[in-house]
Amino acid sequence: VYANPIILNNDPTRKLGMVYLFQDVTKVKKLESVREDFVANVSHELKTPLTSIKGFIETLKDGAIEDKKVSHKFLNIIHVEVERLDCLVNDLLLLSEIESKNRDLVYEYFDVKEAIEDLFQFLDKIAEKKDIVLEKEIEKDIPEVYGSYNYFKQMLMNLVDNAIKYTPSGGKVKILAFKEGKDLTVQIKDTGIGIDKKHQDRLFERFYRVDKARSRQVGGTGLGLAIVKHIVLIFNGTLDLESAPNEGSIFTIKIPLNNNEYFRG
Ligand code: ADP
Repeated sequence: VYANPIILNNDPTRKLGMVYLFQDVTKVKKLESVREDFVANVSHELKTPLTSIKGFIETLKDGAIEDKKVSHKFLNIIHVEVERLDCLVNDLLLLSEIESKNRDLVYEYFDVKEAIEDLFQFLDKIAEKKDIVLEKEIEKDIPEVYGSYNYFKQMLMNLVDNAIKYTPSGGKVKILAFKEGKDLTVQIKDTGIGIDKKHQDRLFERFYRVDKARSRQVGGTGLGLAIVKHIVLIFNGTLDLESAPNEGSIFTIKIPLNNNEYFRG
């Protein structure tokens, strides 16, 4: 903390009074370091696929293009890396939109069942490809929720997508939604690889991953849970995780059903 004396009249020889301006420098420093870490992380995340794309294009130009089989393989790799960059940039844009107050969104009352069913068909196809059973259990007559329908779906999408990604073939993922007191509770349960306690506190930080190589292999951007955390906050909700290695995970979101009364938008 530092104090900055300000002289209150124009004549510095006549010191009538002083105001001390206190600023918490540690807080400013911390914010600065978080920002620097974020820029460093983004640069690294962009650099990795770019280096790979550059390398394969150079090899193709150096002659590999003549071999149809090899060039086909390299083009596929380039395609995967470009998709990765596309997902990363989309998640970065979404995160910055969610974090800024200038969101151009529609806030409305919406039906939770409809939101889940809207997503279910799309997610079920992804689950099926991996031989994972996707189930849903939605209580009847859940009151409508106030907020952004799109953000609500995005939050579910990220959690179910992770559940599928981190559950081996033959496993199960379940979406539950029910009313509990004054809250709507949504749970995403999976029978996947689980998460050790020591990682659980940091899991919602941007780019934090338990296993970098695995996340890269399954196509993760490292921003999915940071996006979920922010959306839950916008809904004035809470987020909870129960998990242990090899015992699956349960992500629980609670949203107050009367949240329109103090909606932050
Ligand atoms: P990613 O794009 O890497 O999946 P996320 O922010 O969505 O990034 O998740 C952060 C990390 O949390 C993941 O890299 C993974 O290690 C872990 N994780 C998230 N969801 C699950 C889950 N359902 N089961 C096991 N691990 C998970």
